[in-house]
Amino acid sequence: MKPLNADLLSSIKNITSWVNQNHWAEMSAGNFSVWRGQKKQPYRIATKKALTLDFHKPLESLANGLILISKSGSRFRDIAHQPQAHLGFIAINASGTCGTAFSPYGKDFYPSSEWWIHLLSHHTLQRNHPEKIALLHAHTLYSTALAKHYPKVSAEKINAFLSQSHHEMKLVFPKGIGFTYPHEPGSNELAHETAQCFADFDVIWWPRHGSISTGKSLEEAFDRMDTSEKNAQLAMLGINENFLE
Ligand SMILES: [Zn+2]
Repeated sequence: MKPLNADLLSSIKNITSWVNQNHWAEMSAGNFSVWRGQKKQPYRIATKKALTLDFHKPLESLANGLILISKSGSRFRDIAHQPQAHLGFIAINASGTCGTAFSPYGKDFYPSSEWWIHLLSHHTLQRNHPEKIALLHAHTLYSTALAKHYPKVSAEKINAFLSQSHHEMKLVFPKGIGFTYPHEPGSNELAHETAQCFADFDVIWWPRHGSISTGKSLEEAFDRMDTSEKNAQLAMLGINENFLE
């Protein structure tokens, strides 16, 4: 499999454009990654401009694997126009204890500041749902406004609130939406809770921050984020938020 083929390039252009049009990617907000598989031997890295990333814990299921990930500080509106300039890879070593970040397309590459969240989440997904290879994070509006009530209001109650607004909710998310505590962006705590949630949920809301979703493709991850956001909007338009208190 090619690290970046025409189909994946087209997906990246599409989803970065859609997220930007939805106003979920102000400034350089948002990031994404795609698991590109693993080999028997570690990936050979052609460039000398590579960065070593030490992991907080071994990620055995990603050993000798390759992950495509967006560049730190890149704007979705710019990625949509010129994807390669804002993309790179993390190649994981044979023991899953560290990775090498590099880009074959530019000089300096540092992966998204939330690279550890992406890696730990891919680790959970490869163990539990290996067909889910894509992760997308963006600053969605209504879902973030609604998620601020967690953990004061339980996940069960917020999910019930969503389900009352549209039948689609239960069809698309039979287990509901997952939640983490309002941890700092890029933190190890946020990474662990997010990864844990991906064993059960396809969309997770980060209080005071945004959403992260997964799917078989970036398009599917986008569709799930879009659907959860629409349901949050419907719920908040239809019933006063005080209903949650
Ligand atoms: Zn963010």
